[in-house]
Amino acid sequence: LTTLAKQIAGCTACGLCRGRQQAVPGEGIMQPSIMVIGEAPEALDDREGRPFVDRPGLMLDNMLTAIQSSRAHNVYVSNMVKCRPPGNRNPKPIELQACKPFLMRQIELVRPFSILAVGRAAQSLLETQEPLDQLRQVTHSLTVVGQKIPLIVTYHPALLLNHPGEKAAVWQDLQLLKTVSGMS
Ligand code: SF4
Repeated sequence: LTTLAKQIAGCTACGLCRGRQQAVPGEGIMQPSIMVIGEAPEALDDREGRPFVDRPGLMLDNMLTAIQSSRAHNVYVSNMVKCRPPGNRNPKPIELQACKPFLMRQIELVRPFSILAVGRAAQSLLETQEPLDQLRQVTHSLTVVGQKIPLIVTYHPALLLNHPGEKAAVWQDLQLLKTVSGMS
């Protein structure tokens, strides 16, 4: 993972390298119960070189705490693209494609028991345009080097900042995640 982080830090495979202050590879525990995958780093993440440390990250930490989990204990956190898109725009398909090998290698090395895909990362990982509403509450899977990893979809924690009414739906998703990751 250290070697991979160095490769990511020096990567110029897509245009996002030009706007970054720091690449944001990921952080957390190896062989975690849960690997959280978001779409892209936010402004503070970009400054600190760490994923999910901006306001949505604090919300994510609260979500994890609600299921007795944390990145210090049993979670690894990462994103589809490792460099922040300017102005927090969505990553372009060409950028997602360019960065995907890093994520796949990361999953291979981290070896999570389950994946929680938040927001549009779910559609990217599952290669579908189906709305999140229809992807939630279903146990999907992602195959990485022959290993099938259960994958649960929920809303991005950033959405909960503006739409706290969706917390009940996220809670349901976290309960399903607990089940598939063997935590309950
Ligand atoms: Fe490289 Fe990914 Fe950053 Fe693009 S987003 S420059 S592919 S590390």
